[in-house]
Amino acid sequence: MRTFLALLFRNRLAALGAVVLCLVVVLTLITPFLPLQDPDVTATADRFKRPFTPGHLLGTDHLGRDLLSRLLWGTRLSLAVGFTAALLAATIGSAIGIAAGYFGGRTDNIIMRLVDMLMAFPYILLALAIVAALGPGLMNALIAVAAVNIPFFARNIRGVTVGLAGQEFVDAARLCGMGHTRIILTELLPNVLPVIIIAMSTTVGWMILETAGLSFLGLGSQPPQADLGSMLGEARSALITSPHTSIVPGLMIFVIVMSINLLGDGVRDALDPRLRSGALSRPLAATRIDRKGAVPPAGDDLLAIQDLETQFHVGRRVYRAVNRANLTVAPGECVGVIGESGSGKSVTALSVMGLVASPPGVITGGAVRFKGDDLIGMPYEKLRRKRGDRVAYIFQDPLSTLHPLYRAGDQLAEAIRSHHAISRKEARARAIDLFRAVRIPNAQSRIDNYPHEMSGGMRQRVGIAMALANEPDVIIADEPTTALDVTVQAQILSLLDDLRRERGMAIIFITHDFGVVGQLCDRIAVMYAGRIIEEGPTKDVLSAPAHPYTKRLIACVPELGQGRRELAAIPGLPPAVDRLPEGCAFAERCDRARDVCRSGEVVLSGTAPRAVRCLFPEEVVA
Ligand code: ADP
Ligand code: MG
Repeated sequence: MRTFLALLFRNRLAALGAVVLCLVVVLTLITPFLPLQDPDVTATADRFKRPFTPGHLLGTDHLGRDLLSRLLWGTRLSLAVGFTAALLAATIGSAIGIAAGYFGGRTDNIIMRLVDMLMAFPYILLALAIVAALGPGLMNALIAVAAVNIPFFARNIRGVTVGLAGQEFVDAARLCGMGHTRIILTELLPNVLPVIIIAMSTTVGWMILETAGLSFLGLGSQPPQADLGSMLGEARSALITSPHTSIVPGLMIFVIVMSINLLGDGVRDALDPRLRSGALSRPLAATRIDRKGAVPPAGDDLLAIQDLETQFHVGRRVYRAVNRANLTVAPGECVGVIGESGSGKSVTALSVMGLVASPPGVITGGAVRFKGDDLIGMPYEKLRRKRGDRVAYIFQDPLSTLHPLYRAGDQLAEAIRSHHAISRKEARARAIDLFRAVRIPNAQSRIDNYPHEMSGGMRQRVGIAMALANEPDVIIADEPTTALDVTVQAQILSLLDDLRRERGMAIIFITHDFGVVGQLCDRIAVMYAGRIIEEGPTKDVLSAPAHPYTKRLIACVPELGQGRRELAAIPGLPPAVDRLPEGCAFAERCDRARDVCRSGEVVLSGTAPRAVRCLFPEEVVA
């Protein structure tokens, strides 16, 4: 609720709408206690007094009645009727929509056809017909307005419910034996409620207008009772001679409807969970940069991540996902980055090309140097030209990285053509070559397949082909084999290994699997809580891990044919990155930790390429 209000009031226009609407509502609530004249008492001698005449702040109407008094009482009535109608329509319409969407089949068909019949009439005609049948009067106008809006709610809510009713959590509720009513009330309703509120907030204004319309035509409130519509209707004949009688209620309708609509838009935005973390804005094209300290000097590595700090700023919380990480990779080299889930591997990888979503991501320190150039802080256009061209990515789930509606070959061609001006035909030929390079059989025909027509391994090959498309210098592979089974995983690994040897590309290979690292990587960097805590040549790290964390991680890996060996899980959990402890982040879970580990900065000790960030390492690194 707090975040909802905060989000709502961040939107200036919505806040304005809320304030104005509140003022109007408060005014109408205190109307009975204000020293106003009776709104219905006529005084023919005082007809059509101008505004600001003594005793009549807003003047009088054609029967000499005080306009201010009529305005306030009329607004009170109009608001009450509008809100009641909206509530009525929302309740009945949503109930119908949920029932239709949840039960589906014939129930759905019958209900929705009835709703369609209602919708087939122009709504104002329908409202007129209902009022004609029931007789004029404010109550009947309310019923008419509510009735014509029921189909709108029913349609909207049914659509949402159909989508929800097929989801697993509803099946799960059925499996544990819940009845229909319970499922609807506890599983579906909380999910559709935001939609109902949004639909209501955007229709209340509309319903006030409709009620006013009916009253204007003399079918709503009956004289002498005032509501905004009837005031306008009565003022019609004096529109030219005494315009203030129309302007006063007209302005009020305008103010009410505008403020409700502005507020409604704000509510819609603030209730949308997707906009919450992004705070009502689209992600920037590149991660936001807010570097405080000095930028580390350039070295001569192909790609060097230097003291990189990437954080997520969500509200007042700061999540320090990457905490001064350092990593380099040389041409043709494969560096493995390994660590538990949540240790900051993906965020490090995405920071390289400024791909961390902003908001909430911010790069707050360090540098990423590609051939000496700092990629962080590089003008966007220059960075864009390097993305996918000089540094390319392979992601975990190829089904979510490939576009489902385009053929695999076309997507590959697009990857090439976005960096090189070549013809479609050439691009297609290149795509076929790339399919062959990643060992896809029948490349000629496979190129016209859609992603869903391919197996997981095949799709990942397409993903690799896309990364290779522009012959990048560096490929960053973020758990590319995690979604695949072991045989396909082995094929993909040997493919990556062949490709890097053939083409001399550097690979940063992110994984949580030591088996995979051992097979492919020359060097390993172990990551924990956003920092590199140990690095060294693969065989050194695997045979003599120095950091207690690395040792524990390796002990978790089962080995085939090694008899019965205790697999030691690491007790505890990685620290929450918004509350990182002082000193060594692993100290909490470490059996070698002493008091000194829990304060001060633990520096990386050792000589390149072997180093460890630990005061009491398992092995001394020279
Ligand atoms: P992994 O090593 O599994 O790839 P990530 O790099 O994805 O881990 O995440 C590192 C840390 O950053 C995690 O603790 C995660 O909770 C945090 N994080 C990632 N994205 C966000 C976000 N949008 N808002 C807040 N925290 C995030
Ligand atoms: Mg990850």
